[in-house]
Amino acid sequence: MKDGLLRLSDPPDDAPPTEIADAIEGRADRDPARIAVDVDETLTTGEGTPWWEDGLGPELDDRVAEIVDELYARGHTILIWTARPWRVAGETAGWLTGHGVRYHGLRMAKGSGGVYLDDKAVNVEQL
Ligand SMILES: [Mg+2]
Repeated sequence: MKDGLLRLSDPPDDAPPTEIADAIEGRADRDPARIAVDVDETLTTGEGTPWWEDGLGPELDDRVAEIVDELYARGHTILIWTARPWRVAGETAGWLTGHGVRYHGLRMAKGSGGVYLDDKAVNVEQL
């Protein structure tokens, strides 16, 4: 990691959550930042029971959750943004609360793109 930016060429696999939070802040267009966080295979590991079988089944990705919590603690706005449909908003909120994820807002049905092209994206694999 250089210049406060996350780069694909040098993923900070062992960087502490505070350092990753610094890098994410460096990418933000304002301070405090409004940070949109995906749920499945971002806040979850992709392991455990799929959400459509059991809303409380997916496993939390502890590292990503710790980074998100650090950003929340620094005063940034955490917006959970998932492709899950609105009909499971309640159980998704329950899952977040049950795993201690602090956030400010929940948005559903972002679409189910196979690839997201976004000028402000940070891929979870970089975390
Ligand atoms: Mg996802």
